[in-house]
Amino acid sequence: LGGDRFALVLPEVVESETIDQIMARLQKALAKPFVIEDTPLQMHASLGITLCPRDGCDIPRLLRNAELALDRVKASGGNNRLYYDPSLAEAAEFRRQMENDLRQAIRQNEFELFLQPIIDLEQNLTTGAEALIRWRHPKQGLVQPDTFIPLAEETGLIEDIGLWALETACRQLAEWQRAGHDRYLSLNVSGRQIPSGLPPTRVADAVARHGVEPGHLALEITEGVLLADTVKALSWLNALRERGFRIYLDDFGTGYSSLSYLKRFPVDTLKVDKSFVRDMNEDGSDRALIEAVVAMARGLGMNVVAEGVENATQLGLLRAMTCRYAQGYHFSRPVPADQFEVAAREIEARLGRHD
Ligand code: C2E
Ligand code: MG
Ligand code: MG
Repeated sequence: LGGDRFALVLPEVVESETIDQIMARLQKALAKPFVIEDTPLQMHASLGITLCPRDGCDIPRLLRNAELALDRVKASGGNNRLYYDPSLAEAAEFRRQMENDLRQAIRQNEFELFLQPIIDLEQNLTTGAEALIRWRHPKQGLVQPDTFIPLAEETGLIEDIGLWALETACRQLAEWQRAGHDRYLSLNVSGRQIPSGLPPTRVADAVARHGVEPGHLALEITEGVLLADTVKALSWLNALRERGFRIYLDDFGTGYSSLSYLKRFPVDTLKVDKSFVRDMNEDGSDRALIEAVVAMARGLGMNVVAEGVENATQLGLLRAMTCRYAQGYHFSRPVPADQFEVAAREIEARLGRHD
């Protein structure tokens, strides 16, 4: 059917149990190593299965069904088999619709950057914010990033969205600068945007156009980015660092957290994942972990932001371990840009009163 796709038609089979047996045999045969120029190569197969007449009888439809099932198998790790069912077609239709909507959203400017304050606990000051994208969908209302970022990544639309976010972030930084605030803004960057979707030269152009210091803009990446293509990621990061931008390592602790990476990659700040902060209590292991991260970061000359701080107990523990920066609902939810000033002032008043 295509480079690595084959169709197998079993005209005489009626019992689904028999199909399962045949498929298992096929997978087993394909799993045996192929010896190519003395090198044994291990293959695996993903199988999508559709039944006639249960799922339809015309060939194009059967092929489409089988491919939908196959795509689902591959998306969930491959080397498995799955029977077609109508929910797969519904999911594919939903996805197609959402992709169209996303394209339209880019053209019609339906995105918005919400800002969540990041607090300097030493100075009890809002030192900046993380930019978190929202989609004002004409029918569905405000859509959260977890619903559309994965699709935007798969389709490559994240590149246009990312350039829009960069532009918007620079405008925000310029506004803060005009108002006399010395604040930082961090932008989330997906692996798919690295390196050519968000070239360091374009990032530099954007801040220059807006008259903003590169040092005030941070790019948040996750460890996955570093692992996927280390060489590419490293040169992209170095190019940004040379131009004065900051790099934050997001969701720290959830990935491989290979410590040797911290030495090799030019990272300014570790953002401790909110799952650790959530489960933190007086004597738990999560508390010990955060404490260790804070100590290690200090040794390496990096900053630490604790994400997802939701209550005063967590804040107290973080202060006690001298974690300097924090972010979370306890201070403020992500807010539309025009509400940021009020949120920042409210936080500072509250911290000033209680400390
Ligand atoms: P992230 O970068 O780790 O962002 C932190 C997420 O935690 C945000 O979710 C934020 O609203 C949420 N959060 C903040 N404080 C708390 C708290 O106290 N408790 C809890 N439970 N959650 C808290 P959000 O805004 O839904 O964003 C989800 C993810 O989407 C982000 O995770 C980021 O990976 C991605 N994302 C957001 N904006 C962008 C963007 O502009 N570009 C790209 N590529 N990804 C983005
Ligand atoms: Mg982030
Ligand atoms: Mg995070």
